[in-house]
Amino acid sequence: MRHYRPETICVQGGYTPGSGEPRQIPIIQSTTFKYATSEDMGRLFDLEASGYFYSRLQNPTCDYVAAKIAALEGGSAAMLTSSGQAANFFSLFNIASCGDHIVSSSSIYGGTFNLISVTMAKMGVEVTFVSPDCTEEELNGAFRPNTKAVFGETIANPALTVLDIERFAAAAHAHGVPLIIDNTFATPVNCRPIEWGADIVTHSTTKYMDGHGVAVGGAVVDSGKFDWMAHADKFPGLCTPDESYHGITYAEKFGLAGAFITKCTAQLMRDFGCTQSPQSAFYLNLGLESLHVRMERHCENGQAVAEFLAGHPAVSHVSYCGLPGDKYYALAQKYLPKGSCGVVSFELKGGREAAGAFMSRLKLAAIETHVADARTCCLNPATSTHRQMSDAQLAAAGIPAGLIRMSCGLESREDLIEDIRQALEAAV
Ligand SMILES: *Cc1c(COP(=O)(O)O)cnc(C)c1O
Repeated sequence: MRHYRPETICVQGGYTPGSGEPRQIPIIQSTTFKYATSEDMGRLFDLEASGYFYSRLQNPTCDYVAAKIAALEGGSAAMLTSSGQAANFFSLFNIASCGDHIVSSSSIYGGTFNLISVTMAKMGVEVTFVSPDCTEEELNGAFRPNTKAVFGETIANPALTVLDIERFAAAAHAHGVPLIIDNTFATPVNCRPIEWGADIVTHSTTKYMDGHGVAVGGAVVDSGKFDWMAHADKFPGLCTPDESYHGITYAEKFGLAGAFITKCTAQLMRDFGCTQSPQSAFYLNLGLESLHVRMERHCENGQAVAEFLAGHPAVSHVSYCGLPGDKYYALAQKYLPKGSCGVVSFELKGGREAAGAFMSRLKLAAIETHVADARTCCLNPATSTHRQMSDAQLAAAGIPAGLIRMSCGLESREDLIEDIRQALEAAV
């Protein structure tokens, strides 16, 4: 499957039925799996053989879908998680634990910002946030001897900044650590971060991959390119024996292609249990089958709405990297030549009050804490998703209080623009 183009992998990747087997991926709704002898099962527990014994760790339905996502991203291995939050936590905690440090773009999803700055801080992992537009000096100055990873988002939710992935990858690699990219908004249809030097890619599959607002989920993809053993002193978890698995050294036993995901499954999924259900994985796969078709329309609608808003007198600013005047237009031309996503951010001249009046008049666009759905939706981050952040933190993340995030769905763009036009009459 790997040599096929993304459109073909979306439809047929991850699962190849044999003669007489189901055409659609089977939902293996079973917590457990039967073996003829305890020795057979013991070999699985020891990671001496691959197979299934308990769905908290691995399940065939989830693995078919993970394999599709790995192929889409051009990675060597992938795993599904219960949510995007779990995927980002696992990707970081698999290599950074108490006493370690990470460098992260400050322009990231509010939930991930909180995960890193509050919850992981309680676990003893420190962070230095840098602007995605920081200078080389600021970026290099953020690293410490105990830095274990660099984190950023291809297109940040909700600030819509575009990360210079090659630049951040070069800095990470110069300091001997991997670059982890949350590729949720771009999806592998529009950007494949591994081709630009990213080592690990994460997803909230809840968004465009599912695309219908059906199931919360996440994924972690390993490029199989980061040489853990070349930096063995930094990554003892991968490069020294795991006593909880009979002294296996993941980087030795599973090599570049398998070490990261095997360790993440064997340790973090075993102990935290943030597993995706086979039923959810089945829904996710249905979404993936049309991802390439839907992304095109989401981007067309996003572009049309952004252009309309940019010409409207009630609007003070529009962020959409497909607009030639946008701060991230040049980076988007490089990393997102086919389009970015359907999410457009804009600020009303009337601030917070105008935003409220505008949103309550919308008929098609629903007020929701969601994005990347087939149905258009919108929200005011400062009073909803980002309400834990102080005004200073909001400003650092590029989110003014009067900002509206509009996620353009798959409806007619004429109807969407008409809905926005009538609602804006309340905002002037
Ligand atoms: C939504 C989102 C997350 C969190 O994902 P959940 O599936 O809601 O846990 C992480 N990163 C980005 C960019 C997101 O948009």
